[in-house]
Amino acid sequence: MSKRKSGKIAITSENCTGCLRCALACSFFKSSEKTFNLSNSKITVVPAYDLSRFEIALGDDCDQCGICVQYCEFDVLSRISG
Ligand code: SF4
Ligand code: SF4
Repeated sequence: MSKRKSGKIAITSENCTGCLRCALACSFFKSSEKTFNLSNSKITVVPAYDLSRFEIALGDDCDQCGICVQYCEFDVLSRISG
């Protein structure tokens, strides 16, 4: 199982179900609109080319707040301590 670091957040994409809770939470809490709108999310979850897994990326505008981590129930996202 590989864990990739993106700033203060580690990503273990093998566990991702594509549920999009992380992206929906980001869009709600991190936009002034306070609506569930994936176009406002700073984290993207998209199927890989071969559809065998999901690819997760944090945008340059992500401030590493960790809200998305709290909403992932599959241990894909985690905070890196220190
Ligand atoms: S760390 Fe915060 S800003 Fe970055 S994707 Fe997660 S919820 Fe959005
Ligand atoms: S990272 Fe977690 S919350 Fe986000 S789509 Fe994957 S399983 Fe769902």
